[in-house]
Amino acid sequence: MIQLTNIHKAFGKNKVLNGIHLTVEKGDVVAILGPSGSGKTTLLRCVNFLERPNEGEISIGDFKISGKHPSKQDILQLRKKTAMVFQHYNLFKHKTVLENVMEGLVIAQKQPKEEARRTSLEVLNKVGLSDKIDAYPSQLSGGQQQRVGIARALALNPEVILFDEPTSALDPELVGEVLSVIRKIADDGVTMIIVTHEVSFAREVSSHVVFMDGGVIVEQGEPEDVFVRPREERTRQFLKRVT
Ligand code: ADP
Repeated sequence: MIQLTNIHKAFGKNKVLNGIHLTVEKGDVVAILGPSGSGKTTLLRCVNFLERPNEGEISIGDFKISGKHPSKQDILQLRKKTAMVFQHYNLFKHKTVLENVMEGLVIAQKQPKEEARRTSLEVLNKVGLSDKIDAYPSQLSGGQQQRVGIARALALNPEVILFDEPTSALDPELVGEVLSVIRKIADDGVTMIIVTHEVSFAREVSSHVVFMDGGVIVEQGEPEDVFVRPREERTRQFLKRVT
């Protein structure tokens, strides 16, 4: 359903992605693991052209976009099919929780306010924040803010939700509530790609694991295979360090 073909990305002379090929099926939960600096976040950002690939192609269903010559129209269309959950939440500080979730529906998707409100209340209920709809981000814990971030992505009903290290800015005691919301969404069959350091979570929730190093995919497969029987030495070394 989602296909990344030969994705390359360099920042100046720094070649960060060196030919990434990845297929994501509908309902897959793909966990991307790898050492710091291996290109995980850049790859995720390339999926919705927050970073434009220098080369390669992304297709989602029948839709195709090329890194070399994307039209503005194509980029807009791609962004409608994807939603990103950021490490630092990126909420609007001067808007309430409900307004934060409604914003994308009203402004980007041009939904009538009433409909946007209904959808937003529904997803806020799903992430356990029904009692916080009128709060401002500064009145929430980091875990609650990230759950707003997830609700905002979910409300857009995208083809895929992209999570960029969604728990790495959180105090340890707040990680669990965010992971359990992600787990719940995964159980609903939402397609997701998650860059994460949480190896045990990745092992439990993902249907497909990708291990990156040096801008390439070193190994990928089902969690059972990659975690229990890694084929590559680099994967083994990484897992030994982090588990
Ligand atoms: P990871 O997520 O695996 O830690 P990143 O994708 O964040 O890796 O970064 C990979 C490399 O790309 C790093 O060397 C980083 O400095 C570089 N990089 C990432 N984003 C930018 C940018 N916007 N401009 C310049 N270099 C960048």
